[in-house]
Amino acid sequence: MNLKKWRLNDVRYQEFKEMTLSRSWVKDTAAEGHFIFLPKNLTDNLTDVKPWNIMCEITLFWKDLPSMKEKIERLKKEKHAVILAHYYAPEEVQQVADFVGDSYALAKAAKETSAEVLVFCGVEFMGESAKLLNPQKTVLMPSYTADCPMAHMVQEEKIAELRKQYPDLAVVCYINSTARLKALSDVCVTSSNAVKIVKRMESQNIFFIPDRNLGAFVKAQIPEKNIILNDGCCPIHAAITEQQVREAKQAHPNAIVLAHPECEPNVLALADRIGSTSEILAWAEGEGEEFLIVTEEGVRFPLQNKNPKKQFYFPKPYPVCPGMKENTMQRLCAALESEKVGVEIAEDLRKRALLPLERMLELAK
Ligand code: SF4
Repeated sequence: MNLKKWRLNDVRYQEFKEMTLSRSWVKDTAAEGHFIFLPKNLTDNLTDVKPWNIMCEITLFWKDLPSMKEKIERLKKEKHAVILAHYYAPEEVQQVADFVGDSYALAKAAKETSAEVLVFCGVEFMGESAKLLNPQKTVLMPSYTADCPMAHMVQEEKIAELRKQYPDLAVVCYINSTARLKALSDVCVTSSNAVKIVKRMESQNIFFIPDRNLGAFVKAQIPEKNIILNDGCCPIHAAITEQQVREAKQAHPNAIVLAHPECEPNVLALADRIGSTSEILAWAEGEGEEFLIVTEEGVRFPLQNKNPKKQFYFPKPYPVCPGMKENTMQRLCAALESEKVGVEIAEDLRKRALLPLERMLELAK
């Protein structure tokens, strides 16, 4: 039997959730030839499946993986498709992807590739961004329910109110937002280019949407502008507490702390460096042997891949984005095969939402 080793946070998160609802899932899955080992802390209430989880801390074996990888490679060639995957997508999906990156790198790759079919392994707003930039291409998503809660966290009336109050107002929209919110904005930004772009804006008054934490991080670096914050946040990064990070620091006192700006300010205050996922990856390749990474745990795969001799730790419980983990190999395979879950955007909305994205690509050069 051909077995492959996995870590838990690379496991198909959706299936894990389903499993916790149905304890017989593990036994049935084992009967089908899958071998599953789960961390004890996540399976304390699964007393009837203990025989499968006492063996090791974070490992899953899945015998279908090699054939599924082959099938995906074959379908990619047949359909002239490329797979784009976010760093937070499951490890196995990152392995079969043609481009792996953060939101900005993926938006750029989507625009630059000549492929006719793009399969976007991320959350809804990412597929939308790819479609905004490539209306003539087919943009598929493995899961049509993979969404980012923060992408919706703005009251549209607030934008209109502030525009009345400040005639020069520029609405700066983090790329993690819906096409509808982008259409109401002046420019998009990502966590890696937000400071650079806001500095380049002529407006003195800025409404930063939807993430209050990234907004506060930008505001602290550009005190000369009036940056108004919106009360939205990433529930995954906002759930990382100061205590969790302190405990991880105590356990690994020599680790350099690298944090994502979507974390709360009291968590960011404990970091040695704050930056986007791409910046975290770049810093980890520099000086230092041990790192405490304060962001979604999917980034462990590229970190470890590029730096096999270095140690990477995460706050516990590991931060996991359920939306990103909906991009399973099965769904990716099905999306390629059926070409069913395509992203469509009304042309009028697409044109309006495209302008701030194009402005971002221009200003970020
Ligand atoms: S990690 Fe947070 S910001 Fe990123 S997709 Fe998930 S919920 Fe959205």
